[in-house]
Amino acid sequence: MPRSRSLPKHWTDDDEVTYERRVAEERERMALEIVELFEAAIPEQVVRIQMSDWAEAHRILPSNLTPLPGPFRWRVTPYMREIADCLSEDSPVRKVAVRKASQIAYNAALVENWIGYTIDVAPGSMMFVGSDAGMAETTVELRIDNMIETSGIAHKIAAQTAHLKRTGRRSGDTKSRKDFPGGFLMAIGPRSGGKLRSFPIRYLIFDEIEAYPQNIGGGAMGKTADEGDPIRLAEQRTVAFERTRKILYGSTPLIAAGSRIDPLFARGDQRYYYVPCKHCGHMQVLHWRIEREDGKPFYPLKYEVDEMGRLIRDSVHYECQACGGHWTNADKSRFLQRGEWRPTAEPMEEGFRSYQISALYSPVGMRSWQSICQEWIDCREGRDVTKLRAFVNLTLGESFEERGEAPEHSLIMARKEGYQSEQLLVDDNGLITEIVAAERPDRALFCTIGADIQADRIECEIVAWGVDAESWSLGYHVLPGDTSQASACWQNLRTLITSWHSGMPVMKALIDSGYNAPMVYRFCSEFTGALPSKGDDKVGSSKRIFQRGKIDSAPIELVRLETGHLKLELYSFLRIGTVDGRPPTELLRGYCHFPLDYAEAYYRQLTSEDRRREVDRRGRSKMIWHLPSGRRNEALDVRVYAMGALYVFAGDVCDFLELDQIEWGVFWGHAETQMAKTLDLSVAGG
Ligand SMILES: [Zn+2]
Repeated sequence: MPRSRSLPKHWTDDDEVTYERRVAEERERMALEIVELFEAAIPEQVVRIQMSDWAEAHRILPSNLTPLPGPFRWRVTPYMREIADCLSEDSPVRKVAVRKASQIAYNAALVENWIGYTIDVAPGSMMFVGSDAGMAETTVELRIDNMIETSGIAHKIAAQTAHLKRTGRRSGDTKSRKDFPGGFLMAIGPRSGGKLRSFPIRYLIFDEIEAYPQNIGGGAMGKTADEGDPIRLAEQRTVAFERTRKILYGSTPLIAAGSRIDPLFARGDQRYYYVPCKHCGHMQVLHWRIEREDGKPFYPLKYEVDEMGRLIRDSVHYECQACGGHWTNADKSRFLQRGEWRPTAEPMEEGFRSYQISALYSPVGMRSWQSICQEWIDCREGRDVTKLRAFVNLTLGESFEERGEAPEHSLIMARKEGYQSEQLLVDDNGLITEIVAAERPDRALFCTIGADIQADRIECEIVAWGVDAESWSLGYHVLPGDTSQASACWQNLRTLITSWHSGMPVMKALIDSGYNAPMVYRFCSEFTGALPSKGDDKVGSSKRIFQRGKIDSAPIELVRLETGHLKLELYSFLRIGTVDGRPPTELLRGYCHFPLDYAEAYYRQLTSEDRRREVDRRGRSKMIWHLPSGRRNEALDVRVYAMGALYVFAGDVCDFLELDQIEWGVFWGHAETQMAKTLDLSVAGG
């Protein structure tokens, strides 16, 4: 009885290693045999057709997958032709990286065409690595099967499958595998470690690589260490075909830190698509934003809005960088055809080309310049970081610089203004008897309060708000007392919430219930304007800033806050600087005013947390907020709760106005009218 493959009776780690090595050697030997088989199947000196010619001769685009159905024509997306021909058999290019926007016909022009061309003209072993296994299979089912059917090459898959069936091997036509004479296509996800290591691959397609994990997990039962980067693992499969292999890396970029497509783009020759001006002929790259020599940004895509802030569609045009002449969206069909790719760098590796393309190049009939301007208007209106990121990634095809870094505290401190913060007068029992406050800032409308509960004190801030979230810190109070009992600190917090500050009412207070929740619930059930609240990252996944929910133990609502987003927003507000050392005299969205008398410690706390990227064991990278040890952060927490209170109040108002979501323009308009009435009344009544 042969013993070579049977396991020893007493299984030890050493045996396992030997066994695994033997299996690996065996696999390697089989792999080389397959390579020889394939290479023998490719006769040398064959005149092959170009991938671009093949596509026009065979491809029919279906109406369910593209806005431009019918026979495939490069004149629709002429910028894709050169990239496609890098993947042709006779091109010396070995690697191609494409950093791209969506809506530029990448999948149809490159991925599908290349797979069809490979099956029909230049067979070899091909692997498609999707953003995950499910996406890879969906791509095959939705796009590849359709392409095979409509390009008239289905018989090649069928014949091979029939042949394999006769010989008793498993089917070569599944969602993850297509067999054809001289090769196969395998579609997998980046976590399929075993498959990434199993077969020699000549053609490799990496799709949406920004979504790949940095590392994939260890072997069976976690006995081995992490296997490493899935891109590197798959690339190693092509080594046997070093002289004839081709690798396509494609992705829409995401966050700049930890990007996978950015370094690949930098490794290649960094090509941009130059198009001619119809007036002066000057060749130029289409840009959303250009940094001018005087440091001021220039936006060549121009638009106008009407008095309601709506886009005037006819006003949209692109301005030539040389002559200032106007181009319209319809001009694309002419200038795209006359464009050309120009490299802007020496590649770091021979035969490595890289391409950058934004949705400004999207052909007539797909994404219009009007639609891009509209998206930009929407981003600006909502001050929404998530929308802005989508705009940068999907429309501009560029990676997004996350600016979570804490602003410099001394810069914020330097802008304190000529008003005093409010002071509390207390009696012998420590109870507030009077609030001595500064005058109401001109543009301020109402207040919110954020409060943080500690064992021996309550810290809270009274923030006044004006249109477009301009804010004034009216007072920062530390109320001493044992918070586990109904002591003076709770009574004082109640006084602050129910009092007016600088002539304005408190419209909403959020109290952090992370510490001693039962006391916070009891306290809040006495008010309509005070709500218990806690930070909850999961709220953000529903793209919202806060969620209201029930509490079992008390008849009040709990507000769960996406504090991470609020911190980002606060930091972006704090970065809005002074104008010539003075606070801006005109309204500046989100500008934060501070009084004369806050100590440096306050500003240090306000900017205490920083954001960092962390990669976990499974290679998933995420941003986390980090508080350096020894630093306190109450002032930051308290301000974030006061900002949360603004959101909850705005939500209430918009609910009242029967709007589906917070519409800031409407909210601030309403606040201005209502507060003017309230303030008039109070003056008349006082
Ligand atoms: Zn011009």
